[in-house]
Amino acid sequence: MKQGPPLSINPRACDRCGACVTACPHRAVRVGRTYLQVDWSRCDACGACAKACPRRAIVLRSAGARGRAASGRPEPAPRKRSGAMQPASATPRRRSAKAVAAAAPRRAPKGGARGGFQWSLLEAAAMLSVTFSMFMVKEVISLSDWVTSLDASAQLTVRVLVLALYYAVQVGVIVWLVRRRGGEPLRALGIAHEQHSFGQVARSTALVVAGLVMTRLLASLYTFVTRELGLLPESTTSLPALFGSGEAGFLLAVLMVVVIGPTVEELVFRGALQEGLAARFGVWPAIIVQAALFAAFHRSWWLLVPTFVLGVALGWLAERCDSLWPPIALHALYNAITVVAAFLASVPTV
Ligand code: SF4
Ligand code: SF4
Repeated sequence: MKQGPPLSINPRACDRCGACVTACPHRAVRVGRTYLQVDWSRCDACGACAKACPRRAIVLRSAGARGRAASGRPEPAPRKRSGAMQPASATPRRRSAKAVAAAAPRRAPKGGARGGFQWSLLEAAAMLSVTFSMFMVKEVISLSDWVTSLDASAQLTVRVLVLALYYAVQVGVIVWLVRRRGGEPLRALGIAHEQHSFGQVARSTALVVAGLVMTRLLASLYTFVTRELGLLPESTTSLPALFGSGEAGFLLAVLMVVVIGPTVEELVFRGALQEGLAARFGVWPAIIVQAALFAAFHRSWWLLVPTFVLGVALGWLAERCDSLWPPIALHALYNAITVVAAFLASVPTV
């Protein structure tokens, strides 16, 4: 006998807490600012989402109700819906492959939960506060008399240790925020290992290369214009001075600035922050705001423009690919050019 939809869904009761998304073992539930959807082609009627929902916005239908739906007898009249939420899909499970393919979104819904975890605005704000607080602590320690009075090698050791602590605390807080709501950190952050088709990988790679060329060209143009206008700062932070010159300094700079730095910054800005903002305000406002904060975070008026452009490109890439790997790759390559240029010649670089 044909079965009707296994779940009854009331988007008006949903407060977008994301518990159902996390509970679903098949990633069938999607919750966003304007929708609550179940992909019936994935749903096996286990009821985990209904159990997890604290507001009874998703309820597992009784066998009788499902039979009534399947037999064609009328369902009780649905309550009139209003407000921003769109009605959830209530298509019966057994649909033709063509219908399923036509109804399926081509990519994850905008502003939806990445990897089954919906960042809240409060969590995004908390993460940002931790990042800025740790940044201040790092700066205060690195510039303190105690550190600057040490000899060069001791200064370098302390700076690297403080930098490592700065990154470790951010990663620790992100993981804690995800785990406290039962999420899986790698999936929630869009860096879990997943099977991708050759076409998807090729498309993401092409977007990363195009993003790198575009952002680097714009940065070079910006450097040229500001130099012509006499606005180029006298000196910028010298990476060789920060990490030491020579091969050891170069390798340390690569580790910190090309590998660890971009990864952690992507987790914070394009991971927690952008997702939390997107859930509340939509994708493009989220991309713009996180890019502005990302630019401000680099605390140089001269760097504001190129880092804002880079932040927008990284945010768009994360949204477009529904993964943090492409923005991590673009960010790392962008920084790699900076590191190589800084070690080849001590000239101001963006
Ligand atoms: S009933 Fe089970 S499989 Fe279906 S959406 Fe809910 S949690 Fe996912
Ligand atoms: S658990 Fe319930 S209230 Fe929370 S997002 Fe899912 S449907 Fe909405």
